[in-house]
Amino acid sequence: MNEAQATQERTADLESFQLFIDGQTVDAASGRTFGTVDPYTGETWATVADGSTEDVDRAVSAARRALQGSWGKLSGFQRAKLMRRLGELIDRNAEALARLEVRDSGKLYREMIFQLRYLPEWFNYYAGLADKLEGRTIPTDKSNFFVYTKREPAGVVAAITPWNAPLMLMAFKLAPALAAGCTFVIKPSEHAPASTLAFARLVEEAGFPPGVFNVVTGLDRSLGAHLAGHPDVNKVVFTGSTATGRAVAQAAAGKLNGVVLELGGKSPQIVFEDADVTAAANGVIAGIFAACGQTCMAGSRLIVHRSIADELVARIAERARTIRLGDPQDEATEMGPISNLPQFQRVSEYLRSAELEGARMLVGGVADIGSGWFVKPTILTDVTPAMRVWREEIFGPVLCVSPFDTEEQAIAMANDTEYGLAGSVWTLNIQRAHRVADRMHAGTVWINSYRAVSPSVPFGGFGASGLGRENGIESVLDFTETKSVWVELTGATRDPFRMV
Ligand code: NAD
Repeated sequence: MNEAQATQERTADLESFQLFIDGQTVDAASGRTFGTVDPYTGETWATVADGSTEDVDRAVSAARRALQGSWGKLSGFQRAKLMRRLGELIDRNAEALARLEVRDSGKLYREMIFQLRYLPEWFNYYAGLADKLEGRTIPTDKSNFFVYTKREPAGVVAAITPWNAPLMLMAFKLAPALAAGCTFVIKPSEHAPASTLAFARLVEEAGFPPGVFNVVTGLDRSLGAHLAGHPDVNKVVFTGSTATGRAVAQAAAGKLNGVVLELGGKSPQIVFEDADVTAAANGVIAGIFAACGQTCMAGSRLIVHRSIADELVARIAERARTIRLGDPQDEATEMGPISNLPQFQRVSEYLRSAELEGARMLVGGVADIGSGWFVKPTILTDVTPAMRVWREEIFGPVLCVSPFDTEEQAIAMANDTEYGLAGSVWTLNIQRAHRVADRMHAGTVWINSYRAVSPSVPFGGFGASGLGRENGIESVLDFTETKSVWVELTGATRDPFRMV
């Protein structure tokens, strides 16, 4: 058997995923595919269509046709029915989709099945708004005019998503976009493309007209740039790193397209001396070790009152030592692998930089399990504000600890970052809780909790953490354009050379 035959035989055993364009599963125009890797085994488990700019163009044209065709003619009531049906199909297929996400991203099954079972709520919540996109009648200073406004769909939406929670981060965008009457072209991450392609089959089964939802996958990162700057796209919604977000905003600016950017974070958890220490320790663990720290809202900076710092850190470290690392498909596992090799290298590099800069590793470091892309729950103490691990997003299970003495100092430390995605305050003093939440520079603040989200609550960041908000009522309005209609009521002629 020659090398080509051997490769053919190896790939024949793998699952395969095609692009989804205009209601059809299709090969990439080039016919190429690429392998996607299971981060636990380190082995390629599926082949995925390797789309190109030509495929993006086909998808955008299909989305435009759907907008001008049967989808564009549906009422909000009809769109809502389709969305609810899609929600039911997600629920019925939650197990299979969760397993795919775990295979592709190494995230825990127990987390992904929760996300998938929760996902229908996004479609139900926004279905409830699809038939309530009302305009207004507006009184003016001109008595001969009747003026009303209408909400029209923004048009073709380009969505670009990262690898850490592909379907949930897609739902944040897709559900309000469908409610508003838009059509959608999504490019998921090259590191975890499979679940979005599998999801497309449910959109078809739900009965959405062809072209409303399209997926283009590809290995080449410039595919996202092509989509974001596409001349026939009207709105760009992106989740990913701050550096890529800037490139996306630039690409979108060329055509003056609206953008929503959900970017990185370096979120603080402030724990006061009057906090419930057991609850706070548990919340800090939920904030940084859940999802292996690979979430944008990771509570990666622990800012703790000096008087309880030793006790709190000891409790977190004690639990960190017993966190069960292993196969993410196993429901007993508490932390899986880092999702892909480049990310593992990045986290390892940060651990080296912490050591070089003089931080102390209380527990943690890399671990030799499965593929070898494992990082243990890591706690760094003696961290100073100038260190890279304190300032930069690591996107891994690495907690940096720094003590404070006064409330003023805690707030200053929390806000000393270019980011502003999220943060928490742990205290049993209700006045202090609200006072500090009020002064935190972040899009979300949890009081005595961490990492709670809902379709009805706006989510997004200040500063380098992003632009605009996802979720909540306002998000559906973001996918609309307002049209003002002026109706002249008298038939009187006017001076044509001045404004009326
Ligand atoms: P990334 O920025 O590397 O990639 C995100 C997506 O952008 C991928 O699909 C990628 O192919 C695409 N892309 C790459 N270059 C592009 C370009 N020039 N133009 C357009 N698209 C391009 O991010 P990642 O490594 O996949 O994800 C991790 C990052 O995502 C972290 O920084 C994390 O904080 C952030 N994130 C943010 C949120 C949030 O809601 N704020 C949620 C999850 C993840």
